[in-house]
Amino acid sequence: MLCHQSRSRSDPDGRRVTTITAEVTSGGVAATTRRRLAVSPGTLGIAAATGLVLLQAVETLAGRHGLGTTLAAGWAQLVAPGFVALVLAAVMCERVWPAERRPLLSRGHVQDASYFLLYVLAIAPFMTLLSVGSAVVLGGHARWLAAPWTAGWPRWSVVVATLVAMDLCNWLAHWGDHRIGALWRIHALHHSQEELSVLTSFRAHPLMHTNGFLLATVPVLALTGARPLAPVLITVYVCLGTLPHTNVRWSYGPLGRVLVSPAYHRLHHCVEGRQEANLGVVLTVWDVLAGRARFPLRGSVPCPTGLAGRTVPVEQADGRPRPVRLLARQLAQPFSAG
Ligand SMILES: [Zn+2]
Ligand SMILES: [Zn+2]
Repeated sequence: MLCHQSRSRSDPDGRRVTTITAEVTSGGVAATTRRRLAVSPGTLGIAAATGLVLLQAVETLAGRHGLGTTLAAGWAQLVAPGFVALVLAAVMCERVWPAERRPLLSRGHVQDASYFLLYVLAIAPFMTLLSVGSAVVLGGHARWLAAPWTAGWPRWSVVVATLVAMDLCNWLAHWGDHRIGALWRIHALHHSQEELSVLTSFRAHPLMHTNGFLLATVPVLALTGARPLAPVLITVYVCLGTLPHTNVRWSYGPLGRVLVSPAYHRLHHCVEGRQEANLGVVLTVWDVLAGRARFPLRGSVPCPTGLAGRTVPVEQADGRPRPVRLLARQLAQPFSAG
């Protein structure tokens, strides 16, 4: 006979934890097997919401026979040759001017390279579907968003206003990642890297993108209406958001007061201190307005990065490195309530 018992409690961070205990008994004989399944309802909820958004995208695109075309166009934007060349150039710069000197094939680099491969093969198409699905969901349920009030604006001003507003939405999503327990469980993987490099940009759980895409779709619908942004601008935005993980000391000089630089973003990844500072993706202005900006001091020593207490399994822990197996464990970890 199989019996299930479900119990809920709060963990020390106030997150709800549901424990399901399955007991198997056979004919009254003392043969009882106990299996403890502890799942995070928050992560399951985010996964379910993500699944619904993806389903909307697939249904919409399949109906118009545009699924393959849209995925190919999205892939060309998110894995553009110029973008890949920029990542490779950043890797070269890390070899010449490293903030922290380490071997090219250090455990952290190899692990993040696995995430880069995952991004190219699966996450870029996933992001394309999230983008389409978010537009379908919000466009269908909040038609009032698509106001025609920018119809008379010059084209360039619509583009600039949309990119700036998208950056604000990404800041809000990042703020939520750090403030809301269920979102932090997913975001923590990105912060677990102890050997920061440009490839750390890709060390992210797929579910980390859902709230950002949903939020960033709001200004796209509200400002651009039916006029799509030029793909090259999306690629430029992705480039600017990727470079700050580069393992160099660059602070971009006076431009670094406005644009997020590697030195600025490294402070967000510091193992010690306030990780809720420097949440900006491309612009620093949102951190300045929220009182969360910490600008790097000239000549300061780069801080160690990672998570205190290693709450996410990391490649720097003892044992033989197995990147693929660890990647699977890291992606599964937010679902476990333990
Ligand atoms: Zn963060
Ligand atoms: Zn980061």
